[in-house]
Amino acid sequence: MITIATSLEGGPLAAKIKHDVKTQIEQMVETRGIRPCLAAVRVGDDPASAVYVGNKIKACEEVGIRSEHHALPASTTTEELLNLIASLNSRDDVDGILTQLPLPSGVEESAIIEAIDPAKDVDGFHPVNAGKLALGRPVFVPCTPAGIMELLDDSGIEIRGARACVVGRSQIVGRPMAQLLLQRDATVTICHSRTRDLASVTREADLLVVAIGRTGMIRGEHIKPGATVVDVGMNKVSDPDVVRALFGHDAEKRLAVLSKRGYTLVGDVHPAEAAEVAGRLTPVPGGVGLLTVAMLMKNTLRAALRRRS
Ligand code: NAP
Repeated sequence: MITIATSLEGGPLAAKIKHDVKTQIEQMVETRGIRPCLAAVRVGDDPASAVYVGNKIKACEEVGIRSEHHALPASTTTEELLNLIASLNSRDDVDGILTQLPLPSGVEESAIIEAIDPAKDVDGFHPVNAGKLALGRPVFVPCTPAGIMELLDDSGIEIRGARACVVGRSQIVGRPMAQLLLQRDATVTICHSRTRDLASVTREADLLVVAIGRTGMIRGEHIKPGATVVDVGMNKVSDPDVVRALFGHDAEKRLAVLSKRGYTLVGDVHPAEAAEVAGRLTPVPGGVGLLTVAMLMKNTLRAALRRRS
């Protein structure tokens, strides 16, 4: 008999997190006359980055955070960007600073991340915040893994003692994800592009988090029956044959999206195969992505509360 995995939707929880942030901001404005402010910095004209920053600005409006959008040309130098970061660091009215990644190849990304005041680092990418997380004293946690932890808790999934596997070891998702799971007493394995016989490792996991950026790479054979699978991947697919192969009987809806937009978003997990093996599965879109922006709002509120207390 084929069982179909329960879908772990991110939308309702993201709405709840934003509602809570909004309520706290209203109180802050009413009682102390303080409205938190997020400065978003974008360099170049990558369309995906423009959409991501647009979504973050829109979320700020929803929850009552004041936002500034600094959109700079692709020709911006590292020095010019460092000057902007320095001025945002020094401004009392700015609580959070984010630079949308990736930056153009001419800009030294690590220098920019390290220039942001750790107290305003709402993305949690600064080495001080990454170090504090590794030591088990988190302050600002990267938004995607932080959102995944909220989703697991909200769904009542047991983390303590679970065998967890994180596929991907990026600074923004894989590594902090593994740290968070470890802090909650999971037994954590991290996989990457050099892992031998990936399926034999991932198949051991009660909790499998996948962040690799490879469309549908994690197949049924990689998943332990009944496991919880969190798919972080966001890949654009524009080939109708690939859509049919990934979605099987459910391809029609996706093909409609594809013909309307020219692409559909697919994760790193093969949706049709995973649905037949996993116990729970996050959809793409509609899963982790929505929580990332909600957690950015939560981190910005946290920065304002810490800085202005
Ligand atoms: P990344 O920096 O490119 O890292 C990818 C990781 O996957 C690397 O550690 C790499 O291993 C590993 N990997 C690549 N191919 C592999 C393979 N064949 N087998 C095993 N591991 C492999 O990517 P990222 O920034 O973490 O993002 C990953 C995905 O998540 C992307 O699709 C991205 O768009 C998505 N994402 C979504 C959100 C959201 O809010 N939903 C947020 C961030 C990212 P090595 O280290 O050995 O190279």
